[in-house]
Amino acid sequence: MKNKLYAKPKQLLVISSIVFVLVLAASVVLFVLGFFTELPFIAYISFVLLPLAGAFLLFSILNYAKNDNMLRTLQIENQYQLGIGNYFFNYQMFSERVKKLRRKHDLDKTYVIAFSVYNILSSGTISSYQRRLNGYIASFIGAKVFQTKMVNPNDIAFCFHRNVFIVYSFMDLDKTRELIEILRKAIYEIVKEKELKVFVQPHFGVAEILPTTDIIVGVDNAIFARNVDERNFEELTFYKDDFRVETNKDEIEEIRDALKNNEFVVYYQPKFDVSKKKFVGFEALIRWNSPRYGLLLPGRFIEKAEIGGLIHELDMFVLRQVIKDLENLKARNMNLLPVSVNFSLYEFYSSAFLTELIELIDRSALKPELIEIEITETTTQANTFMATSILNRLRNHGLKILMDDFGSGFSNLLQLNSLPFDAVKIDKCLIDGVASDPKTKEIVKLVIGLCKANQLGIVAEGVDSKEKVDVLTKMGCDVIQGFYYSEPLSLLEALEFLDDNPFTKKGGSKK
Ligand code: C2E
Ligand code: MG
Ligand code: MG
Repeated sequence: MKNKLYAKPKQLLVISSIVFVLVLAASVVLFVLGFFTELPFIAYISFVLLPLAGAFLLFSILNYAKNDNMLRTLQIENQYQLGIGNYFFNYQMFSERVKKLRRKHDLDKTYVIAFSVYNILSSGTISSYQRRLNGYIASFIGAKVFQTKMVNPNDIAFCFHRNVFIVYSFMDLDKTRELIEILRKAIYEIVKEKELKVFVQPHFGVAEILPTTDIIVGVDNAIFARNVDERNFEELTFYKDDFRVETNKDEIEEIRDALKNNEFVVYYQPKFDVSKKKFVGFEALIRWNSPRYGLLLPGRFIEKAEIGGLIHELDMFVLRQVIKDLENLKARNMNLLPVSVNFSLYEFYSSAFLTELIELIDRSALKPELIEIEITETTTQANTFMATSILNRLRNHGLKILMDDFGSGFSNLLQLNSLPFDAVKIDKCLIDGVASDPKTKEIVKLVIGLCKANQLGIVAEGVDSKEKVDVLTKMGCDVIQGFYYSEPLSLLEALEFLDDNPFTKKGGSKK
């Protein structure tokens, strides 16, 4: 991809012009010599050389013209694609500009940024809204970034290449981070301002550029970091050489093969309603029934699947299997209970995924209320606006949304009324101390109170003892899930368990 299109024809044109001038001069000399001496054949040499040099020159001119034209076409295509004026460079022009800028500057370390506005690895086709958004972002970079005072217009080069934006400016790390924040803010503001119906999920990759780094390698590294960022559901990733080490590849291939060979299975963990004294649903949990390693828990493979870009396939496998299992039970006239399925919220930023999910449920013979979605909220405040509209669409479709792992990691109390959830699952890390640690007990009490005030259902998870069940019941917790009632079970075991367990029988309680 190196400037073959651009630099070589130019060099060829210069060389052929020099050759032509030299041959012309030599021909004149030879011709004169041949004419005035007794050796006329010398003059004939010039008749041969001159047309040859001329042909070479003509070829170079045509070649140059053709490539220059191609370059312009590329540039126009690029602008057309982005729907903008003259602000944006294509990749060839970008690297030409970088070359010039690098001659001017002698900074030890600079940074190149690669970013996209939506997920590109999983989304496949680009919608017209996304295309429009790209155009607005391009205009923003082309015009407004210059007005922020932090970037000297003469010190920046940018282009749209391989479906991502590339921005290279001669700035240190802090300033580069500042620029990323400006871009990130702009993305959300543009979507809001232009009322675009598009889910944004910006991913930024950054690569270091040393004076010896070829810019093409730098850009490639930044794009690589951006892709790792998307796979890991992050927002900003700095390129590391380790990314290229192939150690994970085998494991990822194993997961891919396992998917093909149907080695994944769905287990069901029952949820118990303490006031109704009966089981009211299940959580679907994936397991890998590996012929090589035995039955593996998600902790062993989910993260690798995320890195390898396979999480979407795994999640969809679980959803399809749950639908299939429920349909089979329905066909046998059995009583159906809702099943919750785990998804990463980031999946919902792809509108294609949302459509796929809704279609799957619509095509099934099931009522949407039978499928619940568990989402761990790990996104920043900036995403709240988009998340709200996506979740509302699902709820309007009749699906229930559960906030998973509340109390661990990123969750905060403000989210309890800012996002449209139907219920909150209090994480095991809070539940662990609920019967033994007074402080934890107070926190759980507060969370339950807040949920009730916001008309949210409550599920406590990871409940493994009678004491915890009693404390939680007293606090007004609705539903309890945990080893105290049952571990996750295969479908068959789960059905047997519902038929025969010590909890739902009259007066029954596990001692
Ligand atoms: P999660 O969604 O919070 O699921 C609850 C986890 O807690 C399950 O672990 C369950 O077996 C475990 N658990 C439930 N009760 C108890 C208890 O009383 N004691 C203890 N020690 N553990 C209990 P599991 O199945 O290993 O899943 C771990 C995590 O993997 C899940 O946490 C979820 O985040 C993820 N996961 C599972 N299946 C899927 C899936 O299909 N897709 C995605 N994206 N993630 C999944
Ligand atoms: Mg869960
Ligand atoms: Mg959980």
